[in-house]
Amino acid sequence: MEIIKTVEEMQIASEKLRMQGKRIAFVPTMGFLHEGHLSLIDIAHKNADIIVVSIYVNPTQFAPGEDLDKYPRDFKKDCRLCDEKNVDIIFNPENIYDKNHSTWVIEESLGNFLCGKSRPTHFKGVTTIVAKLFNIVLPHVAVFGNKDAQQAIILKRMVRDLNFPIKIITAPIVREKDGLAMSSRNKYLINEQRKNALSIFRGLQKTEKFFKNGERNAKKLEKIVFDEILETGGEIDYIEIRQIEDLEHRENIEMSSILAVAAYFGTTRLIDNVELII
Ligand code: AMP
Repeated sequence: MEIIKTVEEMQIASEKLRMQGKRIAFVPTMGFLHEGHLSLIDIAHKNADIIVVSIYVNPTQFAPGEDLDKYPRDFKKDCRLCDEKNVDIIFNPENIYDKNHSTWVIEESLGNFLCGKSRPTHFKGVTTIVAKLFNIVLPHVAVFGNKDAQQAIILKRMVRDLNFPIKIITAPIVREKDGLAMSSRNKYLINEQRKNALSIFRGLQKTEKFFKNGERNAKKLEKIVFDEILETGGEIDYIEIRQIEDLEHRENIEMSSILAVAAYFGTTRLIDNVELII
């Protein structure tokens, strides 16, 4: 496994691999890897010859006052896990923004609600870094997790709108045994908060059951999760059902949708979702 630290070296390595006819799959991450990230690497292997994982805590997707400085990091362990998963290249730049960086990729429709509402500059940072990384890693395929469902939908739109010659593959949410969606930020949760955070999964499961039994009223379904989380003292940022295709909200569900949740347990903001497939 090779560890590459500079943009130039990464581009040269990818160009060489492409000239050799290799298919490159890319898994962008912010490190502190867990089973969720590793599942993306497994999927990458099924779709390419060469696997590149980036480990870069992207400053532009954090707003002032968010957890950029305390975001958990363990590069040594990340390297070991990637090595065990037969990753070919880790791209781990120090910083890939020039001092006077002034060009941004902005998706103007899908990022205006859900996480985009409470974190108004977040997706501008995400689309910009992913576009930059695509131009550096030059992959044929990129794998993203449905844990960040809105992010995956926005990135698919970006790839379509800007004609990136890259196939986006999305991967199911990987959960802890008790149902908590795996996240690098779970590390912040103290015992009691972690226990309370399970209310998200309980709520999502209950809602899914009602949906499968025929309930289609969005408000009624959203309220199930709402009540479950409030009961444990979680502070809700949003609970919304939106269509997968365009993230539009409908009073009654007519198309396959996601029920997306963001809630605080202590100061830790967790996100999760379930697909409601028609
Ligand atoms: P992050 O390091 O949090 O930026 O995540 C990097 C990638 O891993 C993103 O595509 C996430 O959606 C994905 N990911 C994070 N957690 C999970 C999970 N529990 N299950 C599946 N994918 C995940």
